[in-house]
Amino acid sequence: MNADSALACLKRGNAAFLAGINNPHQANGPANPMPTLEHRPFAVVLACSDARVPIERIFNQGFGELFVIRVAGNVADAAQIASVEYAVAELDVSLVLVLGHTGCGAVSTAVNARQTQTPAPTRALSELLAQINPALDRLEADNDAVPAAVWHNVAYQGERLVSDSELLADRVARHQLRIVGACCETASGHVDFDDAS
Ligand SMILES: [Zn+2]
Repeated sequence: MNADSALACLKRGNAAFLAGINNPHQANGPANPMPTLEHRPFAVVLACSDARVPIERIFNQGFGELFVIRVAGNVADAAQIASVEYAVAELDVSLVLVLGHTGCGAVSTAVNARQTQTPAPTRALSELLAQINPALDRLEADNDAVPAAVWHNVAYQGERLVSDSELLADRVARHQLRIVGACCETASGHVDFDDAS
């Protein structure tokens, strides 16, 4: 499936979710969990781990349809980039959606740590926040920082996929891959897509 079709599929899926229409693949039980044995997802979603934003549900997709990478703050570190590379190179996926969400705890923590100059309580968290911090450099004012920071973080992590991966950069340059940002409104599940480019 090409990137534009995959994006349209995600948009239709989110509209169906909001309308309360259930994908029959989601209803499959343990007796028949997979509609097919082939691993052919049509999109990668790099998303936050927040439990209120279940990726297959909000896009109304079932088993085998999305290659989902979840990590607090939807950051594009080496493991996430390698996962995207696998999906693109081996599974022929042509769309990567970098999905943030409103009220993101990781982004809020990064914003607060920066505003209060408080060091993170653990080394691992410090390393995570360091991956969000460059996005916060793009904030213009401290007022209402978190909503803007979520979008800046989505854009920044999408840029990292290209700047830190020759494979992905090459696919994008050849128009074989699209990387699109989006933000899910956590309370409703509504997804805003930033797909003007
Ligand atoms: Zn989050």
